[in-house]
Amino acid sequence: MSKGRLFIISGPSGSGKDTLLVELFKIHPELKFSISSITRDIRDNEKPGEKYDFISREQFENMISKDELLEYNVFVGNYYGTPKAPVVSAIENGEDIIVEVDVNGASQIRMKMPEAVSVFILPPSFDTLKKRLLNRGTESEDRIKARLECALAEIGRADEYDYAIVNDDLQKAVKDLSDIISVDRLRVNRNQTLINSILENVR
Ligand code: ADP
Ligand code: 5GP
Repeated sequence: MSKGRLFIISGPSGSGKDTLLVELFKIHPELKFSISSITRDIRDNEKPGEKYDFISREQFENMISKDELLEYNVFVGNYYGTPKAPVVSAIENGEDIIVEVDVNGASQIRMKMPEAVSVFILPPSFDTLKKRLLNRGTESEDRIKARLECALAEIGRADEYDYAIVNDDLQKAVKDLSDIISVDRLRVNRNQTLINSILENVR
């Protein structure tokens, strides 16, 4: 069986990552999603275990000391990390898995898994990003300010990624993301098991 692929999705807060991923999973229900462990407070619209496991700082630091995280980072005062085991098991089972992380997390993953495919989600403009964050209404003004400051630093590192998608027209951005997944599955090295089995059955 061919191994699965890890797809890294990053982009500043408010760029539309969650919105795009909801649509992507409708097109590709076979994709796995890596549930991050985080220490920030839960938002009203969030359910534990859906996108995030909400844990204490102590529990998080325990995971760090046991080397249970593929990567982790502190973002606006809270820990965010990717548990290693589910990612490794998906890839070994031939399943593609999506990991949504910030730019620091992405660079940690690339060092460990250089074959990972990374996608950066861009807002059409900084102004639009600001408006979307304000309209979303999930954060206080202070937190939005901190997120917008991080946004500029993150966009400055978009060139570390394989692909960039501008999330202006949502349907177009969803198609772009879905196309990246589909095209990656056509790589010759992702079909090596089939190639080998055809050759072996003839001999
Ligand atoms: P992120 O997960 O990157 O923080 P969200 O998916 O929460 O971003 O999107 C931020 C806000 O922008 C949400 O209110 C969402 O409904 C809105 N949004 C996302 N994509 C678009 C788009 N293409 N056009 C207009 N609004 C959008
Ligand atoms: P939010 O608090 O808006 O849900 O997420 C804030 C930031 O943390 C986003 O940039 C998001 O991509 C990033 N993030 C989410 N999960 C992880 C994770 O497991 N690891 C890292 N490094 N960043 C994450």
